[in-house]
Amino acid sequence: MEYFDAHAHYDDNKFDEDREQVLTESYKQGITAIVSAGYNLQGTKAGIELAKKYSFIYTTVGISPNDLTDNWENDIKEIEKILLKEKNNKKILAIGEIGLDYHYNTDKEKQKKAFKKQIEIANRNQLPIVIHTRNAIMDTLTTLKENPANKKGIFHCCPHNRELVKEAIKLGYYISFGGTVTFKNSKNAEEIVKMVPIDKFVIETDCPYLSPEPVRGTRNDSRNLKYIVKKIAQFKGVKEQEIAKQSYKNAEKVYEIIK
Ligand SMILES: [Zn+2]
Repeated sequence: MEYFDAHAHYDDNKFDEDREQVLTESYKQGITAIVSAGYNLQGTKAGIELAKKYSFIYTTVGISPNDLTDNWENDIKEIEKILLKEKNNKKILAIGEIGLDYHYNTDKEKQKKAFKKQIEIANRNQLPIVIHTRNAIMDTLTTLKENPANKKGIFHCCPHNRELVKEAIKLGYYISFGGTVTFKNSKNAEEIVKMVPIDKFVIETDCPYLSPEPVRGTRNDSRNLKYIVKKIAQFKGVKEQEIAKQSYKNAEKVYEIIK
């Protein structure tokens, strides 16, 4: 079986001791494509370096709502400069993660402006977007409706909210399922997984965070994708191979990976 980890953070310092080993082992176990996503300037640059080093790693560039510094406007300009410098780099697949998160930071206006500006960058560069949304469902959908992203994209680690999933699919977005589909306390995971058409989802670890059951609480890595696949297969009543294969195909499609 081959797997596509559509969203991870391999620049994270939790991998400093054994990054090489984890990535080599993951590849050997069939994880033959990984998107190590950007979230601030430093993370963006680190993601690009990882994608240059490993043939099976791709990346995204952007400033997340939780990484908006006092200098955020400059940081976003810097993202566009990086894109210009890397214009022949086919491994930069999207702008992300970007979006709205009212859990820690409640400067809603700043977040909305940054989200909008980065959607514009995506459109200027003909790239899809990777969306992070937390406690901000209505505003996220409104921002997307008022500022459409031409290439659409992915709701990364998508909250299990029926309205959000319904609207996201209607708008043409893909839903990304991570460890939370396996959590015993995520009550509507089954309903949400069933709602999403087979050609509209991808899978992710978001590692080193959000380890799935039965390894919840430990450091996460791409080798744990199998637990997420198993759960989705159970919910949808299809074979695990089918879930792995279809999510791989979907990820290649939304990220426009041409082989
Ligand atoms: Zn992430």
